[in-house]
Amino acid sequence: MSVDQVLMAESFVVHGRDEGGPFVLVSDHAGRAIPPELGDLGLSAQERARHIGWDIGIDGVGRKLADLLPAVLIEQVYSRLVIDCNRAPGHPTSIVQVSDGTTVPRNQNISAQDRAWREQTILHPYHARIRQELDAHVAAGRQTVVVALHSFTPFMHGKQRPWHAGLLHNHDSRLARIMIALLQKDGLVVGDNEPYALTDTSYYTIPQHGEQRELPHIEIEIRQDLIADDAGQTEWANRLARLLPQAWQQFCEQYGENA
Ligand SMILES: [Zn+2]
Repeated sequence: MSVDQVLMAESFVVHGRDEGGPFVLVSDHAGRAIPPELGDLGLSAQERARHIGWDIGIDGVGRKLADLLPAVLIEQVYSRLVIDCNRAPGHPTSIVQVSDGTTVPRNQNISAQDRAWREQTILHPYHARIRQELDAHVAAGRQTVVVALHSFTPFMHGKQRPWHAGLLHNHDSRLARIMIALLQKDGLVVGDNEPYALTDTSYYTIPQHGEQRELPHIEIEIRQDLIADDAGQTEWANRLARLLPQAWQQFCEQYGENA
């Protein structure tokens, strides 16, 4: 059985351990499994393994980071081509018909029933698990920081992307700005709402779990060629394990722990 045909009991897996730290890690696009009911979506193995199917390298970064901090990581196991867990239900790109030039045959003209099934078996349980984790933090009166981990393809729409990493932010930019400065101090080229921008309608996870709950949050995108292998994933996990606590400390000094 290949990595993208594994039958999962849940739409998410939980890594790491909670030792009282503030961070809750989430990876919307870490997985590339496809439910057996949907076959291979009509795509070749090569297409399914491309960046359109998942965030290449972020699984290794997230798991290593969860071990290092330590923190709990909630990771989506299904491909974003089945349903994108960083999109609101019904969003035009929730279930993509075409992604980066690739037509997804099984996603053409899908029925309302198929759409609802994907939402109920994959999207909603994943977000419910994140909500449960955050609820437990908040109920215990703990500091809580939502960290959304993503990776981006180095080459898009005929252009090479210059950033090593990018921070996406919208209504509360405080922690993002601190993190941008820390990454720049590391000598990196850092995108400020690049290569993507967080808006009220573009994404789902941070608006839902960070902005609406008024919890401090980070949405970071790392360029995929930097984390394609184990060495790169370890380097980035170590970097984030060092910088996230620094960023949070600066945030608390500037704004107070309950800001
Ligand atoms: Zn992503």
